[in-house]
Amino acid sequence: MDIEKIRSEFPILRRTIYKHPLVYLDNTATSQTPNRVVESVVNSYTKTKSNVHRGVHTLSMEATELQESARRKVREFINAASIEEVIFTRGTTESINLVAASYGGAFLQDGDEIILSTMEHHSNIVPWQLLQRTKDIKIRVIPINAIGELDLNAYRSLFNEHTRFVSVCHASNVLGTINPIKEIIAEAHAHNVPVLIDGAQAAPHLKIDVQDLDADFYAFSAHKMYGPSGVGVLYGKKKLLEAMPPYQGGGEMIESVSFEKTTFAELPFKFEAGTPDFIGIAALHQAIDFIESLGIEQIAAHEHELLEYTTRRMLEEIPDMRIFGTAPDKCAIISFLVGNEHHYDMGMLLDKLGIAVRTGHHCAQPLMNALGVEGTVRASFAVYNTIEECDMFLTALHRVAEMLR
Ligand code: PLP
Repeated sequence: MDIEKIRSEFPILRRTIYKHPLVYLDNTATSQTPNRVVESVVNSYTKTKSNVHRGVHTLSMEATELQESARRKVREFINAASIEEVIFTRGTTESINLVAASYGGAFLQDGDEIILSTMEHHSNIVPWQLLQRTKDIKIRVIPINAIGELDLNAYRSLFNEHTRFVSVCHASNVLGTINPIKEIIAEAHAHNVPVLIDGAQAAPHLKIDVQDLDADFYAFSAHKMYGPSGVGVLYGKKKLLEAMPPYQGGGEMIESVSFEKTTFAELPFKFEAGTPDFIGIAALHQAIDFIESLGIEQIAAHEHELLEYTTRRMLEEIPDMRIFGTAPDKCAIISFLVGNEHHYDMGMLLDKLGIAVRTGHHCAQPLMNALGVEGTVRASFAVYNTIEECDMFLTALHRVAEMLR
């Protein structure tokens, strides 16, 4: 892969921070956006902006076609069986809230149990806790082992006659661990239990085939995969989506409305109340094209090289380095602490040297509790990062660790 050519598509990477070249290693939080995605947004605003699915005029038909061709693209990207199974949302968070509220609201009962894992992002915990306000549902939690993998034996032992749902992440946003979700799904299905996969950290790095995985629901966000902010996807199996009640009411999601009786639109529109972010959705198409033009396996291989190189040097060179999450199968995410130094101080000082990393609990406080820390520093890589940037990060890390010592 010609990384310099790839980088030239990302003008933001030419920025300097405190007179240092920007080294952007906060890709887990959000990735940067290539020109073709930005151009799609500009084109929509300057050439085709019109509300979708409502007009017979040319602009409306063009805007609708841009949105619906993005839906076809997403279907292909995740190998969904039909476009009716591809619902556009605001992001992973909304996708999970939709399932918790709609599926959970309709099909979970007092006394039921659901299984989550220790490594879940808050967006795969809190929506289920909101459901607990109205239903007496028990949340059972899969523990992790010392290297940050899910304990699958413990997972199997959590099932009983009350288990009704499983919701776990494909990859952890803190540990990087890639979970064996095919196995996790198969185990749940053996108990007749449906599974939601939070794919926020997987979609930018891993080939997703929802049919091969046999996932019942799969959620992800465009902004983490070189796409625009404000757009996400919920994949759901058609028979489940058909059985579920609407999540929100409004325009677009109805067939007919009267004060006496309202009927709902067919899938996927039943779950897309109101004007969608049709401009962002059209831009997501370009983000997927970008990924496909490079090849997701090639992207993952490049990121893996950066991960291995940086991890090895961090452990070899920085005294008292602690890395959280050392599973053999992991995404290019390094969560770490140096001695007892505060993650926040490290992040602030790294920023002064041009290095953008994330600090804190990463919206995974239960995981932080399990790790026995309040927060970590997290460096995460994307396709446009280079070995030279890893070197700049390591040089800066040396300086910061020495300063704090
Ligand atoms: N799930 C995981 C694993 C994440 O890493 C994130 C964001 O960092 C989310 C869910 C939430 O994504 P969003 O904020 O785009 O809805």
